[in-house]
Amino acid sequence: MNVFYDKDCDLSPIKGKQVAILGYGSQGHAHAQNLSESGCTVTVGLRRGGASCNKVEAAGLKVADVNDAVKGADIIMILLPDESIAQVYSENVAPQAKQGATLAFAHGFNIHYGQVVPRADLDVIMAAPKAPGHTVRSTYSQGGGVPHLFGEQAVLCGGAVEPLHELKLIVDLIYEGGIANMNYAISNNAEYGEYTAGPKIVTADTKNAMRQCLKDLQTGEYAKSLMLENRAGAPTLIARRRLTAEHPIEEVGARLRAMMPWIAKNKLVDQSRN
Ligand code: NDP
Ligand code: MG
Repeated sequence: MNVFYDKDCDLSPIKGKQVAILGYGSQGHAHAQNLSESGCTVTVGLRRGGASCNKVEAAGLKVADVNDAVKGADIIMILLPDESIAQVYSENVAPQAKQGATLAFAHGFNIHYGQVVPRADLDVIMAAPKAPGHTVRSTYSQGGGVPHLFGEQAVLCGGAVEPLHELKLIVDLIYEGGIANMNYAISNNAEYGEYTAGPKIVTADTKNAMRQCLKDLQTGEYAKSLMLENRAGAPTLIARRRLTAEHPIEEVGARLRAMMPWIAKNKLVDQSRN
């Protein structure tokens, strides 16, 4: 897998271009502010009277109607909720976009499922951050960034690597402001998946298994098992520790962490010291 960093990229081709960012939600505010601070010319396209117009102005960015933002743009980054994209594309983007403009998305959904069939002259690209928009913004502000990986590659690398690292991003959002705070920051698409997939994973069986674990603690069954384990020289602990260390999630995880240098800077655990 090839991974490109800031130093591998030349921003000059985009600097002379007009960039329209449609939407100023979780991803929209991050892309608009990050690009603007990187020296690009950004116009945020929004519907008139919507809740986010004031936020754009407060951030000192240019805001326009979706049609006007699209008209002059060389690059049109569509950062609207996935369920609104097809309609805005057909009503505003397709009729207004200039010949040969580039259409950009942060999610493959609308293109992959044929909800948007782009005009033949438009280029189509994807820049899909593997993080909530608020993290895309905060890491940029700290001089870093978040990885943009294709799902297929992530799956090839071992599917669980993605949740392993995104887990913290999600937990941080919950820790800061509860589940509603997380749902605000993630896309409606991800939130819908939360409601439909979650209950398929955490089922009545899972809850029964958890109840059983609690019972084992209360009756002393767990304590008995731990004492027997230790009396036997901790064979389960030692074997499982080795198996976990050899698991691909740990090998790939170490490679992924090496690409995110800020993690090491704020380490809680230094095995030589604590
Ligand atoms: P949000 O739900 O945060 O987008 C809300 C913004 O879209 C608001 O500015 C809203 O304006 C505007 N908007 C909504 N409907 C319309 C409309 N019909 N016309 C004009 N403006 C409209 O989106 P996300 O940032 O969550 O998602 C954007 C894209 O990024 C999606 O493709 C998503 O899959 C992808 N993505 C999102 C991630 C995330 O962290 N959230 C992670 C990775 C990818 P108003 O104030 O007027 O309502
Ligand atoms: Mg949301």
